[in-house]
Amino acid sequence: MSAPSPTDLHVYRVGLRTRFRGLTSRDGMLVRGTAGWGEFAPFWDYDDAAALAWWRSALEAADEGWPEPVRPSVPVNVTVPAVDAGTAHTLVTGSGGCRTAKVKVAEAGQDLAEEIARLEAVRDALGPGGAIRIDVNGRWDVATALARLPVLDRAAGGLEYVEQPCATVPELAAVRRASDVPVAADESVRRAQDPLAVARAGAADVLVLKVAPLGGVRACLELAEQAGLPVVVSSALESSVGLAAGLALAGALPELPYACGLATAQLMLDDVVADPPDVTDGELPVPSGPVAPAEDLLARHVADPELDRRWRTRLDRVVALAAQEDR
Ligand SMILES: [Mg+2]
Repeated sequence: MSAPSPTDLHVYRVGLRTRFRGLTSRDGMLVRGTAGWGEFAPFWDYDDAAALAWWRSALEAADEGWPEPVRPSVPVNVTVPAVDAGTAHTLVTGSGGCRTAKVKVAEAGQDLAEEIARLEAVRDALGPGGAIRIDVNGRWDVATALARLPVLDRAAGGLEYVEQPCATVPELAAVRRASDVPVAADESVRRAQDPLAVARAGAADVLVLKVAPLGGVRACLELAEQAGLPVVVSSALESSVGLAAGLALAGALPELPYACGLATAQLMLDDVVADPPDVTDGELPVPSGPVAPAEDLLARHVADPELDRRWRTRLDRVVALAAQEDR
């Protein structure tokens, strides 16, 4: 697809309920194609080369649609940001019956006691049958990981896995060898030159796949097949237009042994889609195709002219890059 006409592009900004990834709001671009709508919303710390995969994913949704799903709905986790124990408890009990919680730890300025309290609160809210995973976002070194994991494992009453405990593949491998807690790779997949290097190195038990940064649903299905590891599909904190692509991937994977991180619309104050799907009994429905935003919600959450201009110039650069690569 060449550059879409400017009238088929909408820039949105929606507030977040709690600070996430250092952000208090999320912004991105929605694009209309012949098959429906896609979302182009690379975080601003992604350069144009990295943003190219997000563009390919948006175009796949807008122009092609997705492969047929093999299941009607997918289990999802509730995401618990680095909040106090009381808030964590409320998030889990109000999650629509999620049986799995993903808890952020290793937040700058917080100590171990706060993490322990957060995990105990989540376990209390989930009950003994629920699963708890933690996400470190690569912020520990190996020694810290090996010191903290047994403590947090105990506080949680058992951890399902630890996501990206350290930044590099050799560090992940070292943690995996020395710890009883399974290791999931996230940043080592989506921000790596070679997303399969972590699987080849035996550095992870689980791969976290995010559709947009990895170039689309089909690209992720291929990655999952090549990796030969169980996959957890997670969002990049998109609107429900972008989240639909993650649900399409989760719906199409041959195996889906873990709950997916796709219930992140819960982290946003509003959406651009009317009646976005609710989590029911811990599951979200797999959409039959790309999801369209509502005109009135686009108008309500329209970006200011400065942000609109930033997105359009960014997209121009990325479309030029795509044309270069396709030549
Ligand atoms: Mg993560």
